[in-house]
Amino acid sequence: MQTIESISELRSTLSNHRSDSFQLGFVPTMGALHEGHLSLIRRSVKENDSTVVSIFVNPLQFDNVSDLESYPKVLEEDLSLIKECGVDYVFIPDEEEFYREKPLVSVNFGALASRLEGKFRKGHFEGVGIVVSKLLHLVDPDGVYFGLKDLQQYLLIKRMCADLSFRCEVIGVDTVRESSGLALSSRNRRLSDGGKEIAAVLSKALFQIEDDLLNGMSLPLALTKAQELCQITSGFDLEYLEAINTSDLSNVDNYEIGSELAVCIAGYVEGVRLIDNLYLRPK
Ligand code: AMP
Repeated sequence: MQTIESISELRSTLSNHRSDSFQLGFVPTMGALHEGHLSLIRRSVKENDSTVVSIFVNPLQFDNVSDLESYPKVLEEDLSLIKECGVDYVFIPDEEEFYREKPLVSVNFGALASRLEGKFRKGHFEGVGIVVSKLLHLVDPDGVYFGLKDLQQYLLIKRMCADLSFRCEVIGVDTVRESSGLALSSRNRRLSDGGKEIAAVLSKALFQIEDDLLNGMSLPLALTKAQELCQITSGFDLEYLEAINTSDLSNVDNYEIGSELAVCIAGYVEGVRLIDNLYLRPK
């Protein structure tokens, strides 16, 4: 496994591989890897001739300095996990080189970025748009892998790649969970054991909605019931619970079994902000 820090080394190394038949997979991450990241990485390794994983805590996507500063950094651990997956290249950009100048150009996702996460994390998706665009230009993969755990991010990146004609396919990978249902997240490292038990309420609320909908309950009632579950869970502060249409992220208030629907949730446990979603798709 080759660890690459400079843009010139990345370009020259990858140029040795470019050919019509060679498939390159790419998994962008911010490190502090867990089984969720590893499922993306393993999928890329399986589906491609070679895989690049990047580790970069992108300052542009944090609206809160303490969130950025407290982001877990465990590089040695990450490198050994990536190596075990059979990855060929790890790109760890040097921030000084990557953002030699703060980008003037911005990626504006319009109304899509002003909803859900975008409403509560100002500038977050603009920062994600810039870092993903730069990484995709540098790596130029055939397939890029994103977790459906960050559903809004996946939908926005898919749209950006279509609008701006990036040649890669954007592949969404299902969320990996603990046995309690809690979605794996690098932020879970900041929770106590008790906090993790409380945090299982996010997935509990979503799975309850799924059961209720499949049993014929109306969407507004299922949402209200789930909100009540969140409210009675002490130690959990619900930020939002919304049912959305995945094409324009607008709110929806009815669901027909077999149609497409996403329910997104965000909230705080022990000061840590957590998100999750239920993504129902036609079979
Ligand atoms: P991050 O390091 O948080 O930027 O995440 C890197 C990638 O891993 C993103 O595409 C995330 O959506 C994905 N990811 C994070 N948590 C999970 C999870 N529990 N299951 C699947 N993918 C995940």
